[in-house]
Amino acid sequence: MPLLAKGFLEGIALANPGLGIIPMEPLSGHTSLGVGGPAALFARPESEVALIGLLGLAKKEGLPALVIGGGTNILFLDGGYPGLVIRLGSKAFGSVGKLPAQGGRQLVRAGAGAPLSGLVSFAMGEGLTGFEDLAGIPGTVGGALRMNAGAKAQSMGDQVLELEAMDLESFGKRAFAKEDLAFLYRETRFPIDAPLVLSATFALDKAEDPELSKERMRLRLSERERSIPPGRSAGSFFRNPQGDYAGRLIEGCGLKGRRIGAAAVSGRHANVLLNEGGASASDFMNLSGLIEREVEARYGVRLQREVRVEGSELPFLQD
Ligand SMILES: Cc1cc2nc3c(=O)[nH]c(=O)nc-3n(C[C@H](O)[C@H](O)[C@H](O)COP(=O)(O)OP(=O)(O)OC[C@H]3O[C@@H](n4cnc5c(N)ncnc54)[C@H](O)[C@@H]3O)c2cc1C
Repeated sequence: MPLLAKGFLEGIALANPGLGIIPMEPLSGHTSLGVGGPAALFARPESEVALIGLLGLAKKEGLPALVIGGGTNILFLDGGYPGLVIRLGSKAFGSVGKLPAQGGRQLVRAGAGAPLSGLVSFAMGEGLTGFEDLAGIPGTVGGALRMNAGAKAQSMGDQVLELEAMDLESFGKRAFAKEDLAFLYRETRFPIDAPLVLSATFALDKAEDPELSKERMRLRLSERERSIPPGRSAGSFFRNPQGDYAGRLIEGCGLKGRRIGAAAVSGRHANVLLNEGGASASDFMNLSGLIEREVEARYGVRLQREVRVEGSELPFLQD
């Protein structure tokens, strides 16, 4: 990994005042786990022109670029991210609204930077069904589409009609129909390698009984309150293996409550790893490794992380 000089990063920010670039921004403040080193450059573009400007700059300077949403499913390593981290601004990329109905279904368009909770409550307020089970999942519409976030019987991809994404390699904008995309378990596959989701249009049905729909949402929220421990986490840390639950396997290894540094396996839900205050990314990586080894030794199952690990272990800044 090439080392970067502080002056070089500050120079990029100063030379491009319109792009709102922050050099050496701590990423721990942009994720729910609250760990990780700094981003070499961080920005929150408020227009597509600014977004393309930022991506072009990163490419010119030979820096990698990564888009994040609410950071509720990302673990940044302690060395930080040696490139540009972008969080889409909520003014330009955060709107949610109705489009004309099509084939008897109501179309709703949401920007990738909108909070997922905003999309869920908008749909509920319009008496539309399809998102009730997603209530309470933190993060943004863009992150939820990338992860195909879901709970119980619903996942994000179910209601997608069309999705607009930018190719991070060419900066070209493309619209993808649902059939072009593969919405899998906690993963969406795109026909391009580096998609940056800009927005999506969902086709939703009118709820037959809006009160029943609201009741279903309230039920999901209270189930969530009971099952997900409070505190700093990324929700489920591991994917559930086919036909089983990661939490059951971790609990079966007697790992509930196990700690490394300040990272701990929740005593309430064994698939949730908590930052008990001042944890480092290495604490989480070491705890994750221990869990993977013990589950494989006991059950012969190789757990896969659901949380996306990004960045580098070692610092990228030149002395
Ligand atoms: C308490 C808690 C409960 C949770 N419960 C659930 C649950 O029930 N079900 C569930 O599925 N998940 C759950 N999660 C995990 C997480 O909230 C979801 O995966 C969420 O959809 C991630 O959204 P985000 O905006 O935070 O994405 P981030 O964590 O910021 O990013 C996730 C991934 O998406 C990419 N990404 C983000 N935005 C874009 C974009 N615009 N274009 C392209 N790629 C993008 C990132 O690069 C990264 O790879 C939970 C997390 C927490 C903390």
